[in-house]
Amino acid sequence: MKIIPFGTNGYVSSFNRQTACYVIPLENQLIILDAGSGLFRFMEPAGWRILKGKKKVKIFLSHYHLDHTFGFYAAFELFANQKVEVYAYDDKPVFRELVYTFQFPVDYDRKHKNFKWIKVTSQKYKNEGFDFSVRIQKHRNEKSLGFRFEFANGKSLAYVTDADPSRESVNFVKGADLLLHEHETLNVPKYKNKSKLEDLISEGGHVTTEGAALIAKEAGVGKLFLIHHNPPCDWPELVKDLQKAKKIFPQSYLARDLGEIEF
Ligand SMILES: [Zn+2]
Ligand SMILES: [Zn+2]
Repeated sequence: MKIIPFGTNGYVSSFNRQTACYVIPLENQLIILDAGSGLFRFMEPAGWRILKGKKKVKIFLSHYHLDHTFGFYAAFELFANQKVEVYAYDDKPVFRELVYTFQFPVDYDRKHKNFKWIKVTSQKYKNEGFDFSVRIQKHRNEKSLGFRFEFANGKSLAYVTDADPSRESVNFVKGADLLLHEHETLNVPKYKNKSKLEDLISEGGHVTTEGAALIAKEAGVGKLFLIHHNPPCDWPELVKDLQKAKKIFPQSYLARDLGEIEF
C-alpha cells in the first residue's frame, strides 16, 4: 500500500511544503488524512492522476485548526464529481459560518450537496475495505482525533498529529506497520535519557521529535514518518532533527511532500 503526502507542514506552507494532507488510494476510493493547503494539490497533475476514476473521497479530520482544514476553501470544486464523506469530531462543516459573514462567496448548501459530515468518537468503525479506530487526544486546551486504520490486506496505519505524548497514545498505535506522527523541532525541552514521555511536548503544545520516536519505539511500530514540520525549518534542518529520532528509533524518516511512502 502507499500513502502520498500532499502537505507535510504544520501551521503554514513554506519551502514547497503545504500544510497537513495525506492521500491513500484504495480501489475506487481515496482516503485523505486532513485537509490543509495540501488539498490544493488536487489542482496539480499529481492530484488529477490519483483522483482519476475514484468515486468516493473520505476525509478524516484530526481537528478544525486551519492548517488541517484550509483545503475546504476549494474542496467543493476539487471533488465536484465524487461522493465525499468527512469524518470529524463534529458534524459542523468547515467554513460554514463564513458564508454568513459574506467572506466565503459560495452557496454552501448547493456546492456541497455531495458532501456528508459524519461525527466520530473514540471507538472502532467498519468501512469499505478497512476498519478504523479513533482516539480523542489532548491538544492544548482543546482536542484532536488520532486515527488508526486496519486495511483488508492486513496492513495498518496510525495517524497522530497535534496530540499529547502519553501512554494511551503508545497503546493506540501499538504494532502499526506505519506511524505518521507529528514532531516539533523548535522551542522544545532538552531530551535526556530519563525524560518522561509526558514531558516531551513543546511550548506550543506539539510532541517533540524525541517524543515521537519514543512513542514509535515503545509501540513497536514498523516505521515512523515524522510529519507536521515547523515552517521556518528548511530541509537540512529537518534532516538534522531527524537524527535525534533515529538515535531512539532507527526506522525513523521524514515525510516529504509528494514523496510516496510504502507500507
Ligand atoms: Zn497543526
Ligand atoms: Zn492544531
